[in-house]
Amino acid sequence: MSSVLVVGSVALDSVKTTTEQHDNLLGGSASYASVAASFWTPVNMVGIVGEDFPQPFLDLFAKKKIDTMGLQRVPGKTFAWSGEYEQDMNNRRTLSVELNVFEYFQPILPEAYRQSEFVLLANIAPKLQSHVLDQMSRPKFVIADTMDLWINIAREDLCELLKRVDMLILNDSEAKQLTGCTHLISAGAALQKMGPKYVAIKKGEHGCLLFGDKEFFAMPAYPIENLKDPTGAGDCFAGGTIGFLAAGGEVSFKELKRAIVCGSIVASINVESFSLKRLEELDQREINLRYKLMKEFTRFE
Ligand code: AMP
Repeated sequence: MSSVLVVGSVALDSVKTTTEQHDNLLGGSASYASVAASFWTPVNMVGIVGEDFPQPFLDLFAKKKIDTMGLQRVPGKTFAWSGEYEQDMNNRRTLSVELNVFEYFQPILPEAYRQSEFVLLANIAPKLQSHVLDQMSRPKFVIADTMDLWINIAREDLCELLKRVDMLILNDSEAKQLTGCTHLISAGAALQKMGPKYVAIKKGEHGCLLFGDKEFFAMPAYPIENLKDPTGAGDCFAGGTIGFLAAGGEVSFKELKRAIVCGSIVASINVESFSLKRLEELDQREINLRYKLMKEFTRFE
């Protein structure tokens, strides 16, 4: 079984919904993605935190057997993000971003991580994502995640990165924004022309479209009623996807379909509580049960 290299942000989040507010939560793209991937395979994490980063969060990474040799701990404060959801939780507003130690972050891969075959470049500046690839011999499969911010302020860097990755994950509005296409099937094809062989366009509660080499798969989201905090759903999706692929070691469209179902399921569980609370105690059996149900929900013949 291959381990996965995850690079991204590690954050202290404050999240407000119409009914609850929680501060100093464990957040960040690398935190969510690493914990999600850890259900399938060992994870090596690269990121940065300040001296205020709480020990219980490091303990959680250790409990999930996430190797934090590549998690830099430096003087200063940890990256902090806060956001607020509307009644319709598809709509979120970023209230504040404090870069803190993240401002001067340069991902440095420990020697042991440089041969990793499966890599997730979770959401951080595309220049930093490229810098990670610069330090590696050619991995077997690289997934990149991104966000609207980078499409707005670092489009050129993002386009350079796309030439070097096997799969891009982004949401529907980002896909339209990056390509200028007004519908998603054209956007998927346009993104593939920019570099990645595979593209996954997420549609929130409406699932995901997966584009391959003349292959296409439309996956619904796992149906849940108990939505508490959607933060990190995209990161869990990406983490579950790369974790499943690394565990099997094989990359094909068939395996990718299974992988995004796993990513989607771990995301569907994570959003049932704030931060990573739900994944802390999650048992593989619950993932397996949802996987089985997803098969039933999507079979029509
Ligand atoms: P998502 O809900 O998938 O957009 O991910 C939310 C997570 O992304 C939060 O835990 C934030 O700490 C983190 N985050 C927010 N803005 C950024 C940013 N500019 N770069 C990296 N991570 C971010």
